[in-house]
Amino acid sequence: MPEARIAKRLPTCTGAGGWNAILPPREAAAALNTNSTADVVVIGAGFAGLSAAFRISQIDPGAKVAILEAGHIAEGSAGRNSGFMIDLPHNLSSDDYAGAQMRRDISQTRVNRKAIAFAGEMAATFGFGTDIYHPDGKINGAATEKGHRHNLEYAAHLKGMDEPCELFDAQSMRDITGTGYYSSGLFTGGTVMLQPAAYIRGLADKIGRQARIYEHSPVCALQRNSQSWLVKTAAGRIEAPKVILAVNGHAESFGYFKRRLMHVFTYASMTRAMTEEQCRRLGGRERWSLTPADPMGVTVRRISGHGGNRILIRSRFTYDPGMEVGASRVAAVGARHDAQFAERFPMLTDLAMEYRWAGLLCLSRNDVPAFGEVENGIYAACCQNGLGVTKGTLSGMAAAELVCGHRSATLEALGALDEPARLPPEPLTWLAANAIMRWKEWRAGRE
Ligand SMILES: Cc1cc2nc3c(=O)[nH]c(=O)nc-3n(C[C@H](O)[C@H](O)[C@H](O)COP(=O)(O)OP(=O)(O)OC[C@H]3O[C@@H](n4cnc5c(N)ncnc54)[C@H](O)[C@@H]3O)c2cc1C
Repeated sequence: MPEARIAKRLPTCTGAGGWNAILPPREAAAALNTNSTADVVVIGAGFAGLSAAFRISQIDPGAKVAILEAGHIAEGSAGRNSGFMIDLPHNLSSDDYAGAQMRRDISQTRVNRKAIAFAGEMAATFGFGTDIYHPDGKINGAATEKGHRHNLEYAAHLKGMDEPCELFDAQSMRDITGTGYYSSGLFTGGTVMLQPAAYIRGLADKIGRQARIYEHSPVCALQRNSQSWLVKTAAGRIEAPKVILAVNGHAESFGYFKRRLMHVFTYASMTRAMTEEQCRRLGGRERWSLTPADPMGVTVRRISGHGGNRILIRSRFTYDPGMEVGASRVAAVGARHDAQFAERFPMLTDLAMEYRWAGLLCLSRNDVPAFGEVENGIYAACCQNGLGVTKGTLSGMAAAELVCGHRSATLEALGALDEPARLPPEPLTWLAANAIMRWKEWRAGRE
């Protein structure tokens, strides 16, 4: 038998993701413990995997699809992110999110919107309410003169793309957020805000009526078997001619895109539910979503609905090629979150954090996905470059089209991109990436 591709690493989660924890308990689907067959096996039940399964069901309703998820649905990055499904350029390595080329940004925005429309179609099909999927738009909040300049530069870039945006002054920012911390803001209306764990749970539960979903079923090996693949877990296996790898950075764990993917953690803390009196003290709207004017700054969301009125804060990026971080790192970044929270919300000194967690992003040096047929019958829908809510959806959709032989403009756009560029050897990349991120975070200052 030909050599198998053994998964060298399996996903781990550090800290309880607040979004999932504030939802009612959910019973996990059974783990795979038999041998069976399918037309397509999807590995990973995040944005990419679930979107791929739904798109296959649209193109080929009779196809037998099985989804294998290593952990609990919505416990991975897909259920522990900040929930911004962003349409516009969002280049984390830039000063103001703009990409280097206007033409590329315009075409990326076009395909991002196809993914958002597709997510909207799923949300409508499955009857998600606005507490799960809300086309609210977002604001790039600026706390300093430099942040304001970034917003003006980004607004000029958007104007060049013929994209509308609106500048808010300090008073408007206070009216929206309740805090006087922000001196200005740049509103763009195309971002959809998600309760990410509820969205992923909802997709999995509904798609699970057509496809078979197995949770707590980490794939440990892929073995070529004549015209098909044996997708193996510790207790069972599924044989299929086609496999979609929707595991983001873990594509490298299976030996694909070696030394081409950057595994970066980011960190979040979520407060306890506010009392009515704390809500009154804060003021502002019930729901708002801020990305920082400087990409290395602090994301803040105020949420309401199931789980109560809370504030989420996300900051810090660390490059960790081992794809694991410990609880002590989450605690250390958590202390930083507390300080960032206190600066922004001095009226809420009695509001403590309830949940803290870390989660993974996968970036490439040249800001392209790890996408396409990587070996006969194995299709990658990975490396979402920090915008995985949108781009994971997009790459899942497109991978499904590729697998089904369905041509589309989205697929063509993804197929035309370069492959992820090679990284310099370690420890050079580790040293350089972390030094650059620390410097950029220092430069972002109060943003
Ligand atoms: C704190 C935080 C905030 C973020 N905020 C945002 C945001 O606001 N907007 C945005 O666009 N992005 C955000 N991101 C990034 C976003 O969450 C990811 O880019 C996105 O989840 C990637 O989607 P995906 O489906 O490709 O991969 P994932 O969501 O990582 O899903 C891959 C799945 O594959 C599973 N898997 C891996 N290996 C195996 C295996 N061997 N067998 C079986 N299953 C396996 C994993 O368990 C996982 O569930 C944030 C991330 C974090 C951590």
